[in-house]
Formats: sequence, structure tokens, C-alpha cells
Amino acid sequence: TGLKKYFPIKSGFLRRTVGHVKAVDGVSFTLNAGETLGIVGESGCGKSTTGRMIMRVLDPTEGQILFEGRDIAQVAPAQLRRLRKDFQMIFQDPNSSLNPKMKIRDLIAEPFLIHGLASKTDIDGEVCRLLQTVGLRESDRFRHPHEFSGGQRQRISIARALALNPKLIVADEAVSALDVSIQSQILNLMVELKRQYNLSYMFISHNLAVVKHISDRVGVMYLGTMVELASADSLFRRPLHPYTEALLSAAPQPKRSAVRERIVLEGDVPSPAKPPSGCPFHTRCPKAFDRCALERPALKEITPGHQVACLLY
Ligand code: SF4
Ligand code: MG
Repeated sequence: TGLKKYFPIKSGFLRRTVGHVKAVDGVSFTLNAGETLGIVGESGCGKSTTGRMIMRVLDPTEGQILFEGRDIAQVAPAQLRRLRKDFQMIFQDPNSSLNPKMKIRDLIAEPFLIHGLASKTDIDGEVCRLLQTVGLRESDRFRHPHEFSGGQRQRISIARALALNPKLIVADEAVSALDVSIQSQILNLMVELKRQYNLSYMFISHNLAVVKHISDRVGVMYLGTMVELASADSLFRRPLHPYTEALLSAAPQPKRSAVRERIVLEGDVPSPAKPPSGCPFHTRCPKAFDRCALERPALKEITPGHQVACLLY
């Protein structure tokens, strides 16, 4: 609720704060239990920063993060470890999150050790069970990350994320680095695991096709704000925000669907250090009118479950 992350811009010999990069500038949304919420937007729109704040890897500048009724934005660092069992993150590049010197067994067992569960758990048995769950072989536990393909390494990251039975997984561009055929295998695995483990996902991606495939609901971000939030079906069928319309018009479309005219946006995304006045999209919006430079639209529900932040509505 009202999440913000401002990074200070420091300058000069005294490293004085001369401004702020408003990476996330007042974002509110709900993620229901058992749901996959997709978050789309171009790079720099604040989607990863939002995910990192929810994971408490980054502290929010302002706002609440309510998890089962408790504001975890206020949880002290010392208490975070307990919370971390319920939250896991999967990243784009499993290479950077898997220590190359460690065997797969130790990588997957690490969460048990960190959380002091080693003595209570049959670790080797758990590792074998997790490897099977993600479609790898038990004997793989004696190998090192570099002996696996990108898709297999992402399976290892998923096994590691599942080790402590989390409730929420934040996946940040989890399949973006993989070949298209491998992407669908990993997505299908994630869908299957969600059912099996009763997981909720926040699925962050710049790839609309991927988000459409996996999400129950989708949020569209632009320049640190949420511009539209709806069920995947409603959003892809009837986008309301001019930015969403432009994004969808640029995506490849299945042959039989009604052909949308491609909307080409002029100019670049403005710098989050100097966001425009009024509607953050007004400098590029094909439908902008006089009020747009003056008034910042709030996210409003237009039809049941479909919210949009645009002065046209
Ligand atoms: Fe475009 Fe105005 Fe709507 Fe912003 S508020 S998206 S500028 S029409
Ligand atoms: Mg990112």
C-alpha cells in the first residue's frame, strides 16, 4: 500500500543529496493467496524494485507491505529470518545465485542450514525429493552448477526456493534468459508446483506472452507507478490504459485474433529522477489532453476487478 522507493542522488565532494531517483512512486496492489500476479513493464519501470521491497531485500522509503495482516515493512532485520521462510525469490540468472564452487546437494541444503533445521531434517532425503520434484535426477546432487544447462540451473534454483515450503515466490525475469522452448518447460513446471505446494507467485517480466501464459491477474507498471491492474483475461482482451494498449499492440499476436493496429510511442521513457508532472505517461501518450500535465490520475476501478490510472476514465 502506497509503496515508494526513492534512491538518493549524491554529488560533489561532500556527497550531498541533490535529488532522488523515484524508482517506485506510490504503488498499491493486492496479491491473493494461491494467485499468480504478473507485473509487466519496460526495464526501469520499478517492477524489480517492487519485488525486492516485498522480499525485504530493499527497505521501502514509504508504504506498507501487509502479509497475512502484518506490516512486514516494519519488521526489524533480526526478525526477518523467520519471515524469509515464507518468501523466496527466483532470479533471471541462476548463475549469479548459485555458487559455482558448491555441489548441488549443498546448494539445495543451504536453506535448511541457514534456518537451523539441519539436525531435524533428513537433508539428503529432502534434497533427493526436491530434485525429483523439479525434474532432475537424484544423482545430480553430486554435480556442480556449471555441469548443467541454463534451464536445468533454473530448476535447481526452484528446488532451492522450495526447500523451506514458502508461501510466496517472487520470480524476477525467471525465464527471460532461457530459449523459448525451455521457457515453456520451466513455466509449466512452475504452474505444476504452484498447485502441488499451494504457492502464490509474483511474476515479474518484460515479456507479455510469458505473463499472459502464467498470470491470473496482471499489473502494468510505467515509471514507478501502476497504471493498470486487472484479470489477465480482461487486461489482454480489453486494455484500458493508453500505455497498455501500446504495449499490447507491439506484441506478436496469434493469427486468428483481431489485428490491432500497432501504436508506436514517441520519445523515450523519462528519467525517474525527473518524472513528468501530472500523469507520468503524458509526455508520450497519444491520447493526452490538457489536464494530463497537471493532474496525476489515481488507480480507479472502472469495471469489477479492472483498475486503471488514466484521466480518460
Ligand atoms: Fe494519457 Fe492523460 Fe490518460 Fe495519462 S491521463 S494515460 S496522459 S490520457
Ligand atoms: Mg528488472
